[in-house]
Amino acid sequence: MGILYIVATPIGNLEDITKRALRILSEVDLILCEDTRNTKVLLDHYQIKTPTLSYHQHSKLKKIKEIVDLLKEGKNIALVSDAGTPGISDPGNKLVSEAVKLLSNSVKVMTIPGPSAAIAAASISGFAMDKFLFLGFPPVKKKRSKFFEEAASSKYPVIFYESPYRILKSLKELSLIDGSLEVVACRELTKKFETIYRGTAQEVAEKLEKEEIRGEFVIIVKGK
Ligand code: SAM
Repeated sequence: MGILYIVATPIGNLEDITKRALRILSEVDLILCEDTRNTKVLLDHYQIKTPTLSYHQHSKLKKIKEIVDLLKEGKNIALVSDAGTPGISDPGNKLVSEAVKLLSNSVKVMTIPGPSAAIAAASISGFAMDKFLFLGFPPVKKKRSKFFEEAASSKYPVIFYESPYRILKSLKELSLIDGSLEVVACRELTKKFETIYRGTAQEVAEKLEKEEIRGEFVIIVKGK
């Protein structure tokens, strides 16, 4: 039976990858990628020639079964996402759970740890992060207000992910619930245009409104 490696990759800066991750990516028989074009940039940078195959949120059970068959044949497989640690707000854990189920718990799943946007943001928030709540992405339509009510009323800091298209809307929704909520918005962490915005949700929204909003965000709400 092959090993399924869950490999963390950079969230922006290509230097943020462990030696072990690079070795595993070079040694495995196949790399499963959320988007093969994204991962190609990383693999080319480190001259890794391992074959790749796409595995993403729309991948069907048929594809998972094909992957499981390869593991059964003894092939070692690595799973990477577009950025960070697979399985954190991306399709990684579905593959793990199906592989474990289909192979009756006999497959070895190994983590190759490294960056994750949520943890990177937590480390520079300045908030007490001994305990925190991670809520992933806010729902796009239904249950949005419930999501922000939960984020605004939490005793502990709350981390969530947001796209540039909805960041302003989300900050405004938060500030409508409680104008005094302190937040840290981390944009483009580890990349050229990395920017950290600190203040109330309203203040951060006002700063962002003056700019062309680009890039990906992690938001941390301080908690009560
Ligand atoms: N599994 C990934 C991880 O461990 O970081 C997260 C995957 S999730 C689909 C992608 C989201 O992570 C983005 O929409 C953004 O909210 C956040 N993200 C990823 N890279 C980031 C970066 N460099 N700066 C800020 N946020 C980032």
